[in-house]
Amino acid sequence: MSSSKEKQEWFDKPDPTGTTDSDEVGLRFTCTQCGNCCTGPTGFVLFTDDEAQAIANGLKISKEDFYTKYTRDTLVGRSLNEIQADGFGYDCVFLTRDEAGKTGCSVYGSRPEQCRTWPFWKSNLVGKRAWKEESRGCPGMNQGTLHTPEHIRITREQVEI
Ligand code: SF4
Repeated sequence: MSSSKEKQEWFDKPDPTGTTDSDEVGLRFTCTQCGNCCTGPTGFVLFTDDEAQAIANGLKISKEDFYTKYTRDTLVGRSLNEIQADGFGYDCVFLTRDEAGKTGCSVYGSRPEQCRTWPFWKSNLVGKRAWKEESRGCPGMNQGTLHTPEHIRITREQVEI
């Protein structure tokens, strides 16, 4: 339960998405690794300089080379690059697809916080409608592990999106 001083939010209420018959509080999410969130319309994946260093270390290249080869400037900051993929849209430069179409992330262990915190972003949590809208493209939402409101609030503060 959240403390009485904390503002009650829509996901503090029982069955917040209105999709279950239970009184459970919180939101369910387990990634199915469909890769939808790493492709589609052009977007951005922001990262910190420490995260850039961590990815560069994993790739065994210098941070400078990482910036040059894998990132670009956007209106909201420096982002990972995208690659236009036939039939899919804009793939994150680190999205992988095997011959069967199964997707993966080639820098999974050092992926930026923006990726780690999905779908518990401020923009997705402003209300039930925003959450529902995003869940249309993410089959991992509303199924799998139940995340408590406390966990959701903490995760939401990790990134400014
Ligand atoms: S869209 Fe959702 S289920 Fe698919 S890879 Fe992204 S987080 Fe996982």
